[in-house]
This record gives sequence, structure tokens and C-alpha cells, in this order.
Amino acid sequence: MDITALTLSAAAQGIRERAFSISDLVGAYLDAIAEKDGAIHAYLDVFEDAREAALEADKKIAVAHPLDIETLPPLFGMPIAVKDNILVEGKQATAGSKILEHYTASYDATAIRKLKEQGAIVLGKTNMDDSAMGSSTEYSAFGPTKNPHDLTRVPGGSSGGSAAAVAAGMAIASLGSDTGGSIRQPAAFCGVVGMKPTYGAISRHGLIAMASSMDVIGPLAKTITDAEMLFSAIAGPDAFDATASPVKHSMFDKDMKRLRIGIPKEYFGAGLDAEVEKAVRGTIQKAEKAGAQVEEITLPHAHLALPAYYIIVPSEVSANLARLDGQRYGHHAAYADTLYDVYARSRDEGFGIEVKRRIMLGAYALSAGYYDAYYLKAQKVRRLIADDFIKVFERVDIIAGPTTPAPAFPLGSRSNSPLEMYLADIYTVAVNLAGLPALSMPAGTSATGLPIGLQLIAPRHADKKLFDIAKRIESLV
Ligand code: GLN
Repeated sequence: MDITALTLSAAAQGIRERAFSISDLVGAYLDAIAEKDGAIHAYLDVFEDAREAALEADKKIAVAHPLDIETLPPLFGMPIAVKDNILVEGKQATAGSKILEHYTASYDATAIRKLKEQGAIVLGKTNMDDSAMGSSTEYSAFGPTKNPHDLTRVPGGSSGGSAAAVAAGMAIASLGSDTGGSIRQPAAFCGVVGMKPTYGAISRHGLIAMASSMDVIGPLAKTITDAEMLFSAIAGPDAFDATASPVKHSMFDKDMKRLRIGIPKEYFGAGLDAEVEKAVRGTIQKAEKAGAQVEEITLPHAHLALPAYYIIVPSEVSANLARLDGQRYGHHAAYADTLYDVYARSRDEGFGIEVKRRIMLGAYALSAGYYDAYYLKAQKVRRLIADDFIKVFERVDIIAGPTTPAPAFPLGSRSNSPLEMYLADIYTVAVNLAGLPALSMPAGTSATGLPIGLQLIAPRHADKKLFDIAKRIESLV
């Protein structure tokens, strides 16, 4: 048996039944990484010391009373990959950027602390677009990740490494971060489940900030159940993050006849690939056949989401990334004469092209003469977009549509065209502007075998309900 083929929940069960050891499991994943990651490049750093952690965990199981084994935390011994913008104490945290190339994290992010408390084992740090800006992982300062389904195509981004690791059987599940689609879009491209929690459902403490009003950590996994296991382990309030909030119970009563699904007509217009449309509509029809009520809805300000996002995000980026000045963290240009030169050269050498573009755009949008015209206007649009969703959720439980306009695109085909790259997130960014929970789940493949993702969007704090509805739909596919 290839134990890397098991889901997280099945592997956790296998450990409890002593069908195999945690060392077997962790060893199988490290071997898979050694064998496959040369071609895929999902990892920036692989932790060989995970083998020792696995041995220690096996020792605990060996001496445990059978009753104690039953009550082990769900993630005990599970090998998890972590995006390289989430801090793991004593390990590198580059955020995919040259400016943090030699930075070592001095503490665990709250999400990592909670994983470790459950006994999960971190396998390594995954590749990503520079500072989480991008949709293909090609902006990584350390070379692109390849899509495991087709090595000539991108895995999506910015959590491309985390998605590819799960898709290729090189991690049982992983953590990513989603500011505008960076969990859902690569999940769709790689054929895995990716969940963006309600803003604040998971603490941002120890997540390297991109746009603080939208950033959120979330799980990527093989199944909805697995993603929920990971989510439940790390969600909840945190003294280190005032925006971290409790998660509500599911209000889904499991009767498909009472499920009302809204289909936004704006997500099925021009620009949507025919195969994606067919696969997504086909999956929704299965839910309808199972009894769900499906109705067309409208999100009238959907077309303004991308423009508003690309004012607000660069604005927050320009403020957040000011701390990377060559003095306190990361890359320091040694040969500069003046303090100004240290800042300018360190930042020039350290940041990639897309990051520089956003810092400039953001500084411009926030400048005295333009603040009202751009930033303030974008914030007003953000409110309209959030209100669109509130109105729709008076009528439906969940919104369903495509995660991306098309399946994974070829490497190199968009990296010179920022606008083309931004368009990969056209269906995902509104969710971040509104702070809602959403996920992408596999909904079939194209004729050439490329995965297609179905996106489900739920009201704020309805993360559990989102998982429950997604599990019902998953069982129909
Ligand atoms: N691709 C989007 C961007 O470049 C989303 C990034 C993200 O969610 N981190 O902003």
C-alpha cells in the first residue's frame, strides 16, 4: 500500500489502529519529496528532522494506554507542509522573496503553535510568489513551481507550492494564505481542496503581512473533511491578533431540499472558459438533482472587485512592506554610502518586480492629492461589494460558481502581463474584500486532464456550514 495516497482522516485512523507508524507515514512523504520535488519544486526547505519528531511521536503511542490513543488529537503525527510566509520557529521564512532570503523565524505563528500542540509534524516550507503577490508562483525569487498535472503549466499562486505538494502526494495537507485568491486559485489549478476562512477566523500572528485587512491563513487538503480538520485545529481567538474571532457552529440541517444555492450571473459571463462552465454547471446540477434549490442571483458590483482590490491591496502593501528596509530584517545592501542608499539599494535588490509595482502604486494611491480619488473611493466600492453579498445571503445559503475563468495556464504565458495575471483572480477577490469564507473543490477536469475548481462562498462566520454543505456536494461528485 502507498500510504501517501491516504487522506488525512484515513491516515489518522491508520495510526490509531497501528496499521502503520508515524515514522512510516512521515518517511513515506519525505521519500516522495526526494523522488518528485526535483521536477515540481513545491518546497523551498524540507525538514529532515521530521523523522526524529516522528520517532518521538511513535514512542508516545507505544507506551500509551489504548484509551489514550483513541483520544489523541486528530492531527497527531500528521505531516503538514507550510507556506513560506508563515513563521515556524528556528526555520527560514522567506515569503518567496530575496529580501527575506536569510531570515530565520524567531517564534511560531499561532497557527503553527496550535498544530504543534496537536502533535502535527511540519514537513517543510513551500514555494510562493514573492511576498504572496501573484497568481502563478512564477514571481518566487527561488524559481517557479510546476503543476503536477502538467509540468509545462503553472500551479497557480501565490500558494502554488502548498497546492502542488498536496496534489503530488508530497504532503498530506498544507497551509497557505489567501489575500485575493491565493489558496482557492492554486487549489483549483492543482485539483485539491483549498479553503479561505472568514477574515479573522484564524489568527494572523506570525503570518508575514501583505494586505492586513484581507490576509488570512487557510488549509489545502485532499478532501473537504481533511481541510476542516486542519481548519478546526488552528481557528479561534488569539491574544496576539485582535481581529481573530470565534467560529460559529454549522446551521446546515443536512437536508438537501432545504439547501438554497445562488448562482451569480456575473460569474458566468464573457471570459469564462467553456469547459470550466460545463464542469461547474454540471456539479451544481448534481446538487439540484439531489434536491437543492438553485436560483440565479446577481452581484451588481462584481465588475468593480478587481479594480478596488488593486487600489486597496497595493496601498496596504506599501505600508506593510516599509518595515523591510535593510536595517531590521532580511537583505542588507552592504556597500551603500548613506542611510538613504541603504534603504534604496536593499529594497531595490531585495524586492521582485511585482512587489515594486505594488509599492509604487500604493504610495501613489495614498498620496495627499490622490487619497480621496483612489483609496477612499475604493473603500466605498468595497462596502458596496460587501453589501451585495449581504443582500444575496438573505435569499440563499451558499453561492456557487467557478473558482477561476480557465484551467492552469502555461508557464511564462502571463508573467510579463500584470493585467492578464490579475484576471486569474477575477472570481476570488470579492470574497476577500467582503471578508467571507469560501472554498474551492475539484469539479472535474478539462479534455486534456487539467483540474477545474468549483467555488462555494458562505456568509461571514459560516465556515462550519460551508464545510458541511461542501461535504454534501463532494459526496455527489
Ligand atoms: N493573486 C492575487 C494577488 O496577486 C492574490 C494574492 C494572494 O491572495 N496572496 O494579489
